[in-house]
Amino acid sequence: MGRIIAIANQKGGVGKTTTSINLGAGLAMAGKRVLIIDIDPQGNTTSGLGINKADVKHCIYDVLINDVPPADVIRSTMIKGLHVLPATIQLAGAEIELVQVISRELRLKRALQQVREHYDYLLIDCPPSLGVLTVNSLTAADSVLIPIQCEYYALEGLGQLLNTIRIVQKHLNKHLEIEGVLLTMFDGRTNLSVQVMEEVKKYFQHKVYDVVIPRNVRVSEAPSHGKPIITYDPRSKGAECYIQLAKEVIGRER
Ligand code: ADP
Ligand code: MG
Repeated sequence: MGRIIAIANQKGGVGKTTTSINLGAGLAMAGKRVLIIDIDPQGNTTSGLGINKADVKHCIYDVLINDVPPADVIRSTMIKGLHVLPATIQLAGAEIELVQVISRELRLKRALQQVREHYDYLLIDCPPSLGVLTVNSLTAADSVLIPIQCEYYALEGLGQLLNTIRIVQKHLNKHLEIEGVLLTMFDGRTNLSVQVMEEVKKYFQHKVYDVVIPRNVRVSEAPSHGKPIITYDPRSKGAECYIQLAKEVIGRER
């Protein structure tokens, strides 16, 4: 049974999508069978993996709201072993529509049960909010991976995320654990990045991954080419670090 990891932080722009795509690609390159679930209405993971959203007829919205089997919606990507459950802007309506649905917090969990056995890792790219889509993700997941951007205010709002995790543990998913904390967009030239790193390590200790993702232009260019950094520029520092992250994630499971 595949391990389900929600990549969450309600702050936008901290590297959730970048990490979903590139950790997913790294795990697939290591020979794992990987499904990335895009549950952000912006659908950046979907397009970042080279899928034209205009061609997507059914997306995760149909899985959550209309009981379409996930297997009918899942797409393969240019990387062997890496699949994606796409999202389009249609998903924006789901937050409101789910309010009416019975067991609304369990929709994603139930859907993923149908495909889980076909994968080693299922990564959920969460939206930048703590609404019902993120709660669905945390309810479906075995663990949460929290990307933290090495910027001012990095730790602000983290209390809210941890509180949401505790509420989900209490009422919906008592086995939910913290998979790890990933420092992103690190710039070693600034004191600020170093300070944020120290503070995050003090708080999360061994949960913080050894690898730190540097700020790297190639990483930010890759999505517009519809490719993970590992295929867009395999020699870049960004590619190297995401491959390292995949190794750490695999190593921690053992
Ligand atoms: P989120 O999904 O949390 O909103 P993204 O992964 O979309 O965050 O990242 C926000 C922006 O920062 C994107 O434009 C992305 O390309 C860029 N970005 C992410 N990681 C890096 C990095 N390591 N170096 C440079 N730019 C990055
Ligand atoms: Mg995103």
